Amino acid sequence: MTPLSRRRASPTPALQGQAAAEVRDGAGDAERRAGGAQAQSPGSPPAPPGPKRSAPTPDVIVVDRLTKTYSLGDIEVHALQGVSVTIERGDFVAIMGASGSGKSTLMNIIGCLDLPTQGRYLLDGVDVRGMEEDELADVRNRKIGFVFQSFNLIPRTSAIANVELPMVYAGLRKGPRRRRAEEALRAVGLADRLHHYPSELSGGQQQRVAVARAIATNPALILADEPTGNLDTHATFEVLDIFSKLNADGRTVVLITHEDDVADVAKRVIRLRDGEIIEDRRQAPVAGPPPRYTAHGQSSPSAPSPAERDAELAR
Ligand code: ADP
Ligand code: MG
Repeated sequence: MTPLSRRRASPTPALQGQAAAEVRDGAGDAERRAGGAQAQSPGSPPAPPGPKRSAPTPDVIVVDRLTKTYSLGDIEVHALQGVSVTIERGDFVAIMGASGSGKSTLMNIIGCLDLPTQGRYLLDGVDVRGMEEDELADVRNRKIGFVFQSFNLIPRTSAIANVELPMVYAGLRKGPRRRRAEEALRAVGLADRLHHYPSELSGGQQQRVAVARAIATNPALILADEPTGNLDTHATFEVLDIFSKLNADGRTVVLITHEDDVADVAKRVIRLRDGEIIEDRRQAPVAGPPPRYTAHGQSSPSAPSPAERDAELAR
């Protein structure tokens, strides 16, 4: 038995609870794997927070004639039917399309949560097909931060402990772990909510905790599957502001949405239909800030700042 499968076989009580909650929520298998893998793979301690590491290749993602076929008994579902796309470092891409068009399938492959049926996927120039499961888990831990529609926070666990958890499993010592978690929560405007439980936070604040958890290990790539799907307009723009800021700081962001005004904040929009790309539109150059983003970090003039929003909630 490999060390990884041993860890998989005996998750911590907290993760069992999280996994159980996600099953109840109807979250996908890949989603559970992201949470589990992020928390469980030992890997090396993540790089310190700060500006993104130097770029070895310009293309962070190269997807070449990718297909994904799910077999359900006699029925075959062709979720992806030959998708080719290249995403440069520093781009901010919105993947759009109707429900069932293959968005999550594509994101799960890009996130090394699932493998394609056919085709090639190079992440940072490395073909993921050749990797063993524990190598994939390590890549996920070091390079990718995941955010999902259902925030996937562990209940009855403080915001800061939620953010620290992946770093606990990465073997980071308490001092640096706590410092990074605080820094990440500060970056999402939640410095004054460190010890709140998820149930004591608004939906937008919970998603910001999930974003803090995703960025605490300083990944170069952020993957978000409908991150604003459960949020109201104000909270949506708060979270989008954070993604815009992360992109302006040099991180590559791939965000799935089916809302036009969410896709408006991205530099590039890719639209899927029936597992094929039917549109690939650039809205802003890769170099430079994302659209609707100013140095003040407001994607929408109508959106209050996180502090204003918290003040609103406190009233
Ligand atoms: P989207 O995220 O755009 O809504 P998905 O990528 O989740 O679409 O799904 C694409 C297609 O693949 C859908 O028809 C869906 O029913 C099917 N599908 C997704 N995951 C699975 C799975 N694990 N097993 C079988 N079919 C699946
Ligand atoms: Mg989906």
